[in-house]
Amino acid sequence: MVVGELSDRTDVAVIGGGPGGYAAALRLASHGKAVILIERDAIGGVCLNVGCIPSKTLIHQAEVAWLPQTESETGLSVSVDLDPVAMLAHRRQVVAGLTNGVRELLRAAGVGVWSGEARFARADRLSVQSAGGVKHLEFDNCIIATGSRPIELTALQSAGGIPVLSSSGALELDAVPAELVVVGGGYIGVELGTAWAKLGSKVTIVEMGPQILPAMDQRLARAVTRRLGEIGVSIRTNSVAEATTAGSVRVRTGDSVIDLPATCAIIAVGRRPNSDQLNLDHVGVSLSPSGHIIVAPNRLAAGRIYAIGDVTDGPALAHKATAEAEVAADAIAGKPAAFDPAVIPEVVFSDPEVASVGATTGDHTFRFPFTASARAQTLGDRSGFVQLVADADHTIIGAQMAGKGVSELIGEMALAIEMAATVTDVAATIHPHPTMSEALGEAALGLAGRPLHIR
Ligand code: FAD
Repeated sequence: MVVGELSDRTDVAVIGGGPGGYAAALRLASHGKAVILIERDAIGGVCLNVGCIPSKTLIHQAEVAWLPQTESETGLSVSVDLDPVAMLAHRRQVVAGLTNGVRELLRAAGVGVWSGEARFARADRLSVQSAGGVKHLEFDNCIIATGSRPIELTALQSAGGIPVLSSSGALELDAVPAELVVVGGGYIGVELGTAWAKLGSKVTIVEMGPQILPAMDQRLARAVTRRLGEIGVSIRTNSVAEATTAGSVRVRTGDSVIDLPATCAIIAVGRRPNSDQLNLDHVGVSLSPSGHIIVAPNRLAAGRIYAIGDVTDGPALAHKATAEAEVAADAIAGKPAAFDPAVIPEVVFSDPEVASVGATTGDHTFRFPFTASARAQTLGDRSGFVQLVADADHTIIGAQMAGKGVSELIGEMALAIEMAATVTDVAATIHPHPTMSEALGEAALGLAGRPLHIR
């Protein structure tokens, strides 16, 4: 800071307006703290603007477009007219509705929002650069919630020939690519690849590991692999995309190299934390080898600096960021707080949806297939299963599931595990009929040794 420059002052500065940062700001305001939230791009962060929300909207659009392929299951004949330009406008409208909602929540809570890029000037001072110039902000406490950005493959992205997009670009397409190569078979690549395949692209997913969805249980990955084959998506595992040429992506599998025809490629090979542009050496926080900010259980990174969300270690998920936000805000407000969840549920909005929480193996497991579910029959899709895992004391310690709408079931099992529910607790909980959630009760009955609708 130059001599004579003035700085503003606040109780808490929050850097980043994603699901971590905005949730922290709201919680701090409810604790009576004066809060300034600084965002260099768009309030709502990756999740609302270029992540969870536009991707799930795209996936829903693709589901609708795919209805004609499922008509034999319903006895109906359906036809669909695709208008990719209108579909993009709809995705943007959904995003705008939610981000406006967050802005209004922040306004109503009295959170000050600054547009600009923040860097540490000192351990208690930020400089914030925007189009209007540089402002300075002194704080008592600061929360770093700067999230993450896509890992780039510069050899592919700079080669030219065909458009090479990040996940953000893939969500902004206003035309269906004829031939699409998705590099990376993690959940983002699988979700985007499935959606564009259902909208008409000929899709190949290139994955360097031996299976797609490497973070997921093998049985769940297998269920998705099978369905991708039925949809017409090719999967090349143990393979690496090396280059793009005019009209193709060059892929190496062991010693063999082929040029996969492509009019477009999407790079979805993971994300890296936004910890490298903050002048962190001014504040004494430590980074892990992967560049994530190291924190204590109450999210304290150093001095009066806290960190939450994707910029810290752990699964890069919006609900994890939001849960950590509450902990950091409570800690700053002087309340006892620690981020110590029993489990963090994970969902892939693939086809079928797959979801997992807690342990995948234990003393007792029982799998209830949706072929035995009345609700699955009424919905015309009986694929998939619910598996529950219990320990020697018959306490529920894990659940894995694949099938229609399982994203809505996994939360109940996260609650069961947090509350140390036993098999009997879940089996005795009356689940409404006919719903997919009955499968949870049925699997618990199976674990209790008295299965009802399955032998
Ligand atoms: P972010 O959402 O990344 O927000 C960080 C914000 O900080 C950004 O807005 C950025 O502009 C701002 N910022 C960074 N540096 C500075 C600076 N120096 N100054 C000012 N501002 C700065 N998660 C799920 O749980 N479910 C899903 O279904 C899901 N789907 C996804 C789909 C896609 C395609 C992608 C890419 C991600 C998805 N995620 C999903 C992950 C989810 O988006 C992230 O885990 C979540 O957004 C992390 O929240 P965050 O607050 O830590 O950071």
